Amino acid sequence: MSVDPREFFYIHALQNAVQHNSVPKAGTVLGMLMGNYPEFRPQAKEMSAILGDVLKEVMALSPEERVSKLKELAPELLEQKKEKKEKVRGLRDLKNVGENGVVMRFAPNPSGPLHLGHARAAYLNDYYVRKYGGRYVLRIEDTDPRRVEPENYGLLLEDAAWMDLKITETVYQSDRFEIYYEHGRKLIEQGSAYICTCDSESFRELKNSKKTCPCRSNSVEKNLKLWEDMLAGKYPEGTITVRLKTEIDHPDPAMRDFSIFRVVDTPPHPKIDAKVYPMMNLSVVVDDHLLGITHVIRGKDHIANTRRQGYIYEYFGWKQPEYLHYGRMSIGDVVLSTSAMKEGIKTKKYTGWDDIHLGTLKAIARRGIRPEAVRNITIDIGVGQSDIKFSWENLFAENKQIVDPESNRYFFVPNPVKCAVEDAPECTATIPKHPNDESKGVRHLEFKGSLVASKDDLQGCSFVRFKDLFNATIIPEGDSFRVIYAGTSLDEAREKKAPIIQWLPVNEGIRCNLLSPEGLIEGLCESSVISEESEIVQFERVGFARIDSVKESLITAYFAHR
Ligand code: GLU
Repeated sequence: MSVDPREFFYIHALQNAVQHNSVPKAGTVLGMLMGNYPEFRPQAKEMSAILGDVLKEVMALSPEERVSKLKELAPELLEQKKEKKEKVRGLRDLKNVGENGVVMRFAPNPSGPLHLGHARAAYLNDYYVRKYGGRYVLRIEDTDPRRVEPENYGLLLEDAAWMDLKITETVYQSDRFEIYYEHGRKLIEQGSAYICTCDSESFRELKNSKKTCPCRSNSVEKNLKLWEDMLAGKYPEGTITVRLKTEIDHPDPAMRDFSIFRVVDTPPHPKIDAKVYPMMNLSVVVDDHLLGITHVIRGKDHIANTRRQGYIYEYFGWKQPEYLHYGRMSIGDVVLSTSAMKEGIKTKKYTGWDDIHLGTLKAIARRGIRPEAVRNITIDIGVGQSDIKFSWENLFAENKQIVDPESNRYFFVPNPVKCAVEDAPECTATIPKHPNDESKGVRHLEFKGSLVASKDDLQGCSFVRFKDLFNATIIPEGDSFRVIYAGTSLDEAREKKAPIIQWLPVNEGIRCNLLSPEGLIEGLCESSVISEESEIVQFERVGFARIDSVKESLITAYFAHR
C-alpha cells in the first residue's frame, strides 16, 4: 500500500484548519503521518520540508476555500466535523434564575467515601453554578451520629477536591445545632410542633388509623417544658420526640405528624456533645433557607422529603426553592454499599476504600479515570426522571478521549518468553512516545540478538512483525520458539497479514503487574515506565493503565480501559 505524503499532509492540514479555524502545528500532522505509516519515519527531515510547504499553501487559502477544497478531496472528513459539532453537551435551563445567578448545594452525609451516585448530585449542581454564576455550598450533613465516623470527613473533602467542584463555602451541620434548636423552639411556640412521649409502636398504630396521639393536644407551655427537659438530657433515647403537626388524615402515612427532633444516646457524636438531634427534614429546610439556596437538584428518592419539607416552609412563611428530582441510577459490577465495603476492608477482601472492585471515586481515580470524564458522563445522563443504568462503557469512552492525547505509549509483554533471533543484526528501535504528538519525544529500545515477546502472541503464528523493529519467522519448538530474522519490510508484513506484536530487549524489561477488577496479568514492560508513577500510559495493544506504584523491580499498574 502506498501513500503520497504530500496529499496526506494537504488533506489533514485542511481538515484540521476547517475544524479548528486555524492552521495546525506541523508536529500534529507530521505525527499523524508517522503514526499511520511508520515507513516514513527514517525520512523525517524530507517529510518535514514537504509539510512546511503544504502548511504555507493551506494558510494562503480563505476559510471558504479550505472547506471547498476539502469537500473536493475528502468529503468524508468534512462530515466528521458536522457530527462532532452536533454533540452539544448541556442541561436544560433552570426556572427562576435571579440576577445574581443561583445558590446550589451538594449535601452528602459523611457515612463513607463518595461514589458515582454522589458524583451525579455534585456535578449536576456544579453545572448550574458554572452556567449561571452564584454560590455553591458544600454542606456536610452530619446529624446522625450512627452514620458519622471521624475519618469520613477527610475522605469526603478529598473526594470533593478530586471532583474539582466550584465550591464557594463549606458548612458542617454539626456546627449549627443551636440554630436548629432555635427553630425547633419557634415551631413549638407557635403551636406547629409538639413533643410526643408515646412509644413508637402505639404512635404508629394511631397514625396508621388516622388518629391523633394524646400528646398532640398538649399546651404550648407543657411542650416547651418538655423541650427544655429533652435538651437537658432528662429523656433517654426512644422515649421522646418532637413532631410536626401536619395532616393526620393525609393519604400518605409518611406525611402524618413526622418527627423533626429525636434523642440519640449512643454513639456520641464525634464532633459535638449533643443528645437531641434534628431530623434531616428539619435541618435541610432551615439550612436551605438560611443559606439562600435557590435551586435543589436531588434524586427522586427525596420527592417525599420535598413534600414533608413543604409543611416546614409553610409554618415559617418561607419560600421553597425550585426542585429538580432526577431518576434512580443503578451501577452494576462494583460494590457500593458502605457496610459491605467496610466489612470487606475489615476482612481484607478489599485493600481499602480505593480497592478497584468498589464504586468509590477513589477506586475510579485509582483505575485512571479522570474527574472530567465523570463530569461529562454525568451531564450526559442529565436530570431526567426516568431510572437508568450507569454505563461503564460510556465512562470509559469519555475517559479515553481525555487520556488518549496525553498518554505516553509503552510496550507491555504479558506471559513473556525469551527468544534468540537467528541472523538478526543488532539495531535500535526508535519509537515515538505518542504517535500523534512529536513533542513527547521518543524512546529507544536496543536489540542485541535476543528479545522477549509474549508466548500468547507467538503461539500459532508462523510470521510476525516485532513492532518498530523487524519481521521474523516463528517455528515452535516444544515449549519455546525458533525465531528467525526476516527483514524489515513493513509492506511484506502487511501483505502476509503478520500480527504486529510488542517485544522488549532482554534485560530491558521490568516486572509489571497489571490489575483489573477481572484479575491480574503478570508481564514485563519497558523500564522507562518507572518515570510514569501516578500517570496514565497506554500499553500498546493492551489499553490504558494508571501506574500505581513503582517499587525497585516491580511496577503495579491498574487497567483503565482499552
Ligand atoms: N444528605 C442527603 C443525602 O445525601 C441529601 C439531602 C438533600 O439533598 O436534601 O441523601
